[in-house]
Amino acid sequence: MATQTFDVVVVGTGPGGYVAAIRCAQLGLSVATVEDDRPGGVCLNWGCIPTKALLRNAEVVGLFQRAQEFGITVGEWKADYAQAVQRSRRVADRMAKGVEFLFRKNKITLFPGRGTLKSARVVEVSGKDATGKDGAQTLEARRAVILATGSEPRSLPGVTIDEKRIISSTGAVTNESRPGSLVIIGAGAVGIEFADVYAAYGVSVTVLEALPRVLPIEDEEVSAQIARLFSRRGITIRTGVRVKSVTPGPSSVAVAVEAEGKTETIETDQVLMAVGRAARTRGLGLEPLSVATEKGFVTVSSAMETSVKGLYAIGDMAGHQMLAHKAMAEGVVAAETIAGQTPRPVDYGNVPSCTYCRPQVASIGVSEAIARGGGREIAVGKFPFTASGKAVALGDTEGFVKVVADKSTGEILGVHIVGPEATELIHEFAVGRTLEATLEEIVHTIHAHPTLSEAALEATLAALGHPIHI
Ligand code: NAD
Repeated sequence: MATQTFDVVVVGTGPGGYVAAIRCAQLGLSVATVEDDRPGGVCLNWGCIPTKALLRNAEVVGLFQRAQEFGITVGEWKADYAQAVQRSRRVADRMAKGVEFLFRKNKITLFPGRGTLKSARVVEVSGKDATGKDGAQTLEARRAVILATGSEPRSLPGVTIDEKRIISSTGAVTNESRPGSLVIIGAGAVGIEFADVYAAYGVSVTVLEALPRVLPIEDEEVSAQIARLFSRRGITIRTGVRVKSVTPGPSSVAVAVEAEGKTETIETDQVLMAVGRAARTRGLGLEPLSVATEKGFVTVSSAMETSVKGLYAIGDMAGHQMLAHKAMAEGVVAAETIAGQTPRPVDYGNVPSCTYCRPQVASIGVSEAIARGGGREIAVGKFPFTASGKAVALGDTEGFVKVVADKSTGEILGVHIVGPEATELIHEFAVGRTLEATLEEIVHTIHAHPTLSEAALEATLAALGHPIHI
């Protein structure tokens, strides 16, 4: 069996793996990557990117529905869901090709096939080798192996995801037909984003969430606002419900739910399972090497090294937030450590959380409730987009910016945004918190007028007790 030697071998080419590989190459290391799917991993091919393309379609449909508001008369129009999915696939293909381009540019070798650890520094690749030949390939790493195999959708016990009647987010981005009715189990980012997409295309959507509110990791006011706006759009939101069983029949699926002590059955065309994801570590060869894990996630140091020297793990498989941008940051830390540098560890308390539904949701730091429970006196400032000239001009006034700070020091503890471009606006506060900016420093910064960013300024002013525009 042929053995090839590189400085670093990266298993998995999602946002964690491909960024780690590129950073290693930039630092002068020779790099091999191993991928059993398509370059770019779940994010580029089946997750973040194709979903954002579908959400963009949903937004365009929404604008057509509101054409009259803008004085535009539209003749007969049709939103073709199959074409939306086809567009989304083209977007994903383009981005995956972009990763292959970056690999070539950085002289990174891609080995298609499944990687299994034979030792901390040896990875066996099954399937096709780089030249397209079948057969096992052995890759040896002089410096380190980085594991970045990501995660896979979870299901409920005894419920099989067939991607037809019971689908995961993967089925949702690839199925060109849409159901008449859909029950979404779980109101996290996946559940809420697909509720938005399917409802825009006329699907009768019911969202079932076990916890008392949608987007339960967000601030309570944010969850309430999204639940209210989604309900107004005709999406049925049911929180605090327990799903007892999901039974596919020949033409529908029966979902038995228990709420307030009563059990009932919802008949639906399709079920989208959006109850979270599990680390993808099966068959990777962790057990023979005694790699430490906790609750299914690989345990890592702040430098992303596992319990086995020279073996690193990053991204979804390494715990914390299961987010592409967190994986990328971890990839950089792993690569720089392997190259002999001493990078700053990832700041898990300052990772933006973004949901790309309409209106968008974004946050950083802690919620108001958590800040209040922390024992310090806090200041809260809120600014509604209805009072923002730019938002009114855009016709996008739903939502608000809320800033939670320490009252005596002005330290920004958390920021919660629902509204237009929330996922872009949040970064002002991400940078601010990295620089340890206080409320005073944010308001001392001139924000251009008219912009949505002024809502961030005004919410900060409100936290100081003197907003101008409300
Ligand atoms: P999630 O963990 O964010 O949400 C799952 C939801 O399902 C939770 O609210 C949970 O309370 C609920 N749930 C669990 N079991 C249930 C049951 N039996 N009945 C009803 N509800 C139940 O997971 P997700 O939304 O599937 O997303 C998976 C991962 O991918 C998450 O880490 C998420 O952050 C990430 N993701 C991020 C984005 C984004 O950043 N925009 C988009 C999609 C996915």
